[in-house]
Parts: sequence; C-alpha cells; structure tokens
Amino acid sequence: MEPVNPSSMQAIDCDIHPAVPSTRALLPYLDEYWREHILRRGLEADNLELSAFPVNADLNSRPDWRPARGIPGSDFDLLRSQVLEPFQSRFAICNVLHGAQAMFSEDLSAALCRAINRWVAAEWLDRDPRLRASIVVPPHSADLAAEEIDRCASDPRFVQVLMLELTELPLGRRQNWPIYAAAERHGLPVGIHAGSSFRHPPSGLGWPSFYLEDYVSFAPGFGAVLNSLVTEGVFVKFPKLKVVLIESGVTWLPAYLWRIDKTWRGVRAETPWVDRLPSEIIREHVRLTIQPFDEPPEQSQVQTLIEQIGSDEMLLFSTDYPHWHFDGIEAMPNGLPPDLIKKILIDNPLATYPRLS
Ligand code: ZN
Repeated sequence: MEPVNPSSMQAIDCDIHPAVPSTRALLPYLDEYWREHILRRGLEADNLELSAFPVNADLNSRPDWRPARGIPGSDFDLLRSQVLEPFQSRFAICNVLHGAQAMFSEDLSAALCRAINRWVAAEWLDRDPRLRASIVVPPHSADLAAEEIDRCASDPRFVQVLMLELTELPLGRRQNWPIYAAAERHGLPVGIHAGSSFRHPPSGLGWPSFYLEDYVSFAPGFGAVLNSLVTEGVFVKFPKLKVVLIESGVTWLPAYLWRIDKTWRGVRAETPWVDRLPSEIIREHVRLTIQPFDEPPEQSQVQTLIEQIGSDEMLLFSTDYPHWHFDGIEAMPNGLPPDLIKKILIDNPLATYPRLS
C-alpha cells in the first residue's frame, strides 16, 4: 500500500509546537508587576525551556527542518512553509511546551502561562486562520489553572487545555479536579503531553543519570496517568471530559488495556464507582495522537493493532512539527484502510475538539 499524503484530505494536525524564542518575547504580554519582577531577577536572559533532552540534540528538530537561526519552531514563516502548506492542514493545534509549567512559584507559573497564552494568540493565531491553540495552565495550582481556562475560553481559537504527563500529583487526584471542571464547562479536552515538571523521578527507581533514561521513562508514565484518571473516578465526576494523550506512542495501549481490565476484575470492590471495564471507560474518554507512531514492521500488523485497541475512534492525526518524530509528509502509518485514514485525519479530531466544528 502506498503511503498516504494527508494534504489530499485537508487533515487536522493535533500537535505542532511553536516555540517561545526567548523570555524577552513574553515581556510585552506579562502583567506589569511580573514584567518588572522578571527584569529585576534577570530571568529574561534565560529562555526557560522545558527540556527533556539536550537543546541542541537532533531530537529537538529534524536537521532538514532546523532553522538557520533560533529555536526550532520559533519562526512563523517556516512553520507555514514546512507544515501548514505541505499538509494543506484544515487546522493545526499549537501546543507550546515551556518551563512555565514547571515553576515552583505558583504565582510566577500562572503569570508566565497567562503571558504565553496572550503571546500565542497575538503572534500565531492572529497570523493564520488555520491555527488553533491549547491553553497553557499552571498545573500545580488548580484554582489558578481554572481561572486561566475561564479567561481564555472566551476566545474560540483555544480548543484544549494543555497539561504535562508527570506532575506533582497523579493527574486523577481530586486536587486537580477544578481543572477538569473548567475544561468540561467550556467543552475543552485536556491534552496531556509527554513531559515532566520534575517534581519526582520519571520512574519509581529514583533519579536517572542520563537523558536517555529520562526520555524513555515517559512512555510507561502514560499508563500511570490512565491508572490515576480512571481509578480516582475523574470520568465519573466529569462524564463529558475527553483526554488526549499527546506523544505517548500507541502500541503499548492493547497490553495496558488487557492488564488494567484483568486486575480490575480482581480488586474492583475497592472502587465501586469504576462500574465497568476500565478499557470501556478509556475507549470512550481517551484519545491518542499518532506521532510518534511506533509502527510495527509489517503493514498487516498495523491493522491487527487497531483491532486490539478495539476502537477506530481513538487515534488523532498529528505531525509533532518540528520535533524529530515529525516524519515530514509521510506522517501517516502505512497499512491503514481508507475509511480509518479519513477518521484519523478528520472525523476523530472533529469529534474530540467540539470547538473545531
Ligand atoms: Zn508533541
């Protein structure tokens, strides 16, 4: 089967990464108090990048997509010529990854997130009608995060709330529930992107020594995220909430669903609110972006994988521009039937993000 060119169908790209070029770029978008505070501390000299790998490593950007100057993803014209035009994207959702979400000061975190949301609206969304964005929130202060969601939600171009996978508390804990309440209230899915605010080691074994250990540990972390959201009853409390796992990979899901269903059967008496198979709850409420797609070597195995997941509604098209996972125009895995391709490129994103309709 030939690779599918998503441009033929005007796909919806659910994960691109505009990058804040420097903290100086945020100064006009900060409240006056915080602008003065940041200048007094000299924080504008640091770009506060949230890095899980070396900033100059190839993983941050394919060499053929790296700009001549500046951080990959920080140039609007390049983004337009490298991803919006080649893919003829109907919409592309900007997920800004930034150290604002890792700050220990809850107030500084909230101030920077607010500035980022103003910056992305003015510098990106205003420049191209195909762009949409996720609301960056201070994850360790649910009340301030909910305030920011309420503030941004009046702009329909914000279509999602952006969280990181590994935070101070497991994401299902009820201290986080004001975030889910605000998201549900405004019809916004919660996107959970690979990444950490580094409150805890990425695995239970303790702090790793190398980027390799840290980065690879993100994959099993997504299973822990689902354990927490399902078991704490988030989807019982917020029945309309959708969660999108972004950059989680895909092939781990069938084995994970098997394990959580099997174990739930044995211990379900302790969580009677989880009143059906966890896999059913996950199929209803959880979606996954397809870059990186840890594609099996044989095309026929891709079809088997989709059958094992047990749903054709869970996968969402994404390019992950400009990160290494970005496969250029060949962003779709081979071996998918045409009706499933259309669902991944268009129908599933539209069903997940009501604000795109
Ligand atoms: Zn991404």
